[in-house]
Amino acid sequence: MPQSNLHLKKVFCDAFRQLDRGGKQFQPDVAGIEVKFYPYAGLHHTIRVRAGRIFVRLSDLFQTAPPEVIRALAFLLVARLLSRKAPRDQERIYRSYAFSPQLLRASDIARRQRGRKVISSANGEIYDLERIFAKLNRRYFGGEIEKPVLTWSRRRARSILGHHDAAHDTITISKILDSREVPEWFVEYIVFHEMLHIKHPARIVNGRRYYHTNAFRAEEQSFPRYQHAQEWLDHVVRKRQELRARAA
Ligand SMILES: [Zn+2]
Repeated sequence: MPQSNLHLKKVFCDAFRQLDRGGKQFQPDVAGIEVKFYPYAGLHHTIRVRAGRIFVRLSDLFQTAPPEVIRALAFLLVARLLSRKAPRDQERIYRSYAFSPQLLRASDIARRQRGRKVISSANGEIYDLERIFAKLNRRYFGGEIEKPVLTWSRRRARSILGHHDAAHDTITISKILDSREVPEWFVEYIVFHEMLHIKHPARIVNGRRYYHTNAFRAEEQSFPRYQHAQEWLDHVVRKRQELRARAA
């Protein structure tokens, strides 16, 4: 039996209460949280905060999951949001259901039918943007940056490695960086740059929009491997030119 929405919300509130004991980060009540099932291609769930409210989307493959599995999933997602380690027993309950032959088959079918079309997610093949964001937020921003939608680009664009879209509250990172050949600190630098765009909104001077203000640049240079990152940027750009020359 699918669980009622109110019940789902309560399960998440409970996970917050247990994992965020001091209530330092979030302590939502059922009104401050939205939980929906979503027809993702394959097994995928998301949790994010927007304007102080929690938004959860669960794979609709979990619509008929037993209550203890939903509860375990709630713990995993809330732990992810809080950058905490999920309780081990919850992790085990979730995995034994998510990786059961029956669910894997359902997830395969969903992937085939729904294709790649709609969703690209934050969790790439090599790097997880949610994890990188959480780490940077903690280390450089005192956890003050409100999490936007984080996603890998669907195409492997070389020209734009990262982009912050203020209107849609989204940071998109080029899939070209989701590669073993790219060091993690470089991906972090690109995400860091985009996070600075959230911290330092564009300034409008004489009708022109300035994105990289002096304050932005100064803070950007505080990134420990800033110089090294600039060399890597050159390296990536050079590769792009080589590719273009080859294509010409
Ligand atoms: Zn920029």
